[in-house]
Amino acid sequence: MTRIAIVEDEPSIAEVVSLYLKRAGFDVQQYADGHAAWQAFEARMPDLVILDVMLPQVDGFTLTRHLRDRSDVPIILLTSRRDETDRIAGLELGADDYVVKPFSPQELVSRVRAVLRRVKAEGESPRETSLTFTDISIDPQTRLVNVRGEEISLTAKEFDMLHHLARHPRQVFSRDQLLESVWGLSDFIDPSTVTVHIRRLREKIEEDPANPKHLLTVWGVGYRFEP
Ligand code: CA
Repeated sequence: MTRIAIVEDEPSIAEVVSLYLKRAGFDVQQYADGHAAWQAFEARMPDLVILDVMLPQVDGFTLTRHLRDRSDVPIILLTSRRDETDRIAGLELGADDYVVKPFSPQELVSRVRAVLRRVKAEGESPRETSLTFTDISIDPQTRLVNVRGEEISLTAKEFDMLHHLARHPRQVFSRDQLLESVWGLSDFIDPSTVTVHIRRLREKIEEDPANPKHLLTVWGVGYRFEP
C-alpha cells in the first residue's frame, strides 16, 4: 500500500485530506509539525509527502531541503500564499508539485496520483549506463569521471560536455551544436565558451593537453571524442 504522510498544523485541513486519500486507497499518516514528521521519516520514509509551507517550528521549505538532502521522496507543497516566488522557491528546493490553498481535496488526490505516476515512469526509464574507455570512465549516474585510475573533479558543464562528446564517439560537433546540447541557450552564450571548456577538460583528462588524444579539434568544424 502506498504510504502518504501529511504534515499540516491545521487539523481541519489535515483531516479532510486524510479522509479523501484513505478513500482513494492510500495509507495515510498525519503530523502536526515538522519535528514530529522528521522524526518519523528518519525511522521510515513514506512514499510521498504532502507538506504545508506554513508550519510551527520547522517550516515546509526547511523540511523540503532536509528531505532532499537524503531522499528523493516525492513532495507536494501546500501553500496558502498566492505569491509566485514562494511557489518557485518550493520547486527549486526540490518539491515535485504544489497546491495553492484553498484547494479541493479531490484535486489534491489527482495531483498525488499524477506525481506518483510520474515518479514511477521515471524509475522505469532505462538508467544511463556508464561509458568506459581504455583510460577514462564516465558515470552519468554519479557524475564521476575516472582518468587513468584517478577520480577527477569536473564542473557541471565540463561533465555535461565530456559526457555528450563521449556518448557519440568520433562524431564531430560544431561549437553551436555543443552550446545547444550542453547549455541549451546557444543564442545567449558566446561560442568561445565551448573553446574554454574544451581547454579546461583537456587539462583535466589529457596526459599531454597540448597533444590531446581524446578531445580532438576538427579544424574549421568543431570537436570530437576519440575513444
Ligand atoms: Ca499551516
